[in-house]
Amino acid sequence: MIPAVLPTYNRAPLTFVKGEGAWLIEADGRRFLDLGAGIAVNALGHAHPRLVETLKRQGETLWHVSNLYRIPEQEALAARLVEATFADTVFFTNSGTEACELAVKMARKFWFDRDRPHKTDIITVSGSFHGRSAAGIAAAGSEKMTKGFAPLLPGFTSVPWGDHDALTAAITDTTGAILIEPVQGEGGIRPVPDQCLKGLRKLCDENDLLLIFDEVQCGMGRTGRLFAHEWAGVTPDIMMVAKGIGGGFPLGAVLATERAASGMTAGTHGSTYGGNPLACAIGNTVMEVISDKAFLDRVNRIAGRFRQKLEGLVALHPQVFEEVRGQGLMLGLKCRAPNTDVVQAGYGFEVLTVPAADNVVRLLPPLTLTDAEIDTAIDRLTHAATKVALETKS
Ligand SMILES: *Cc1c(COP(=O)(O)O)cnc(C)c1O
Repeated sequence: MIPAVLPTYNRAPLTFVKGEGAWLIEADGRRFLDLGAGIAVNALGHAHPRLVETLKRQGETLWHVSNLYRIPEQEALAARLVEATFADTVFFTNSGTEACELAVKMARKFWFDRDRPHKTDIITVSGSFHGRSAAGIAAAGSEKMTKGFAPLLPGFTSVPWGDHDALTAAITDTTGAILIEPVQGEGGIRPVPDQCLKGLRKLCDENDLLLIFDEVQCGMGRTGRLFAHEWAGVTPDIMMVAKGIGGGFPLGAVLATERAASGMTAGTHGSTYGGNPLACAIGNTVMEVISDKAFLDRVNRIAGRFRQKLEGLVALHPQVFEEVRGQGLMLGLKCRAPNTDVVQAGYGFEVLTVPAADNVVRLLPPLTLTDAEIDTAIDRLTHAATKVALETKS
């Protein structure tokens, strides 16, 4: 019999009943160190006092009004994002995949309004992930996500990740945009080198293309800058944000330049919930904490220390791990043993990690991780690796 919950997930037999910072408490009382943070969502950890305070205050004031009316919390969050980034304007969604939908619509409308309606196509790269909506799966293009769901939304061309020549060759008169994650998340924590992001910007400028960055996973302080592309010193025309921006409350956004957004006039897009007072009140508090320079400096210091210790772990267990990759607190352990064995073994030692493609174990801890928690993480991951190494041998 089909379970009452549609069985689209293979779930671990773990039930968490409470969260405190980087810790999740299981129904049986065990305390798990959470190095997955709801897949880069709980950027400030669980039950952060400032988020709890905002949730209570706004919860007692106003949860939802329609976008038919002005929403001061939404205007404040948009102003904050505009102030802190390349963007001139913001649309709020409830998720990353909805941000993808709007990014695609915005790019197409841009060229439609410029009398070049044939420029509908978007080039993406292999291994990418842009969500599970029709546009999201068509954009990612992998068989795993699209099989059985044809006909797919047309207009996407996928080229191999890291192949600049293939990307250049894929540009035709119908190409309108390039869509890429500055650091690929689901694909296995693969940062696009700064030089390549610069090259992409140049390629877009020379070929009349919009550049769309998907920072749903790598944004919001995850890499040690507010947004990952800042490291490369280039800016996109459109950017998708979600996950960390709500700190656990469903919230996403599309940020854009005035030029790129010019087609999105009244009536061209909408959302019932997107940007409601409760979501945006929380988003404002998240932004207030994360966009602070001292906070990001601390993320970089902690990330450096974590990475150094992970390098030590990899050196100690060459039969389990191949290398550490990633940026800031968006880290991946490329495995030699099956990555799912490492994640499973971690459960036994009360540490949570997340598998990714390319046989990688993802570490996306809360950005508030402490030095002591790093030591505990390394300790528990070492136990897990030792277990996997012993099992591999026998
Ligand atoms: C998670 C993710 C998405 C989809 O976000 P949802 O909120 O699950 O719809 C899109 N892009 C990237 C890079 C992601 O990591």
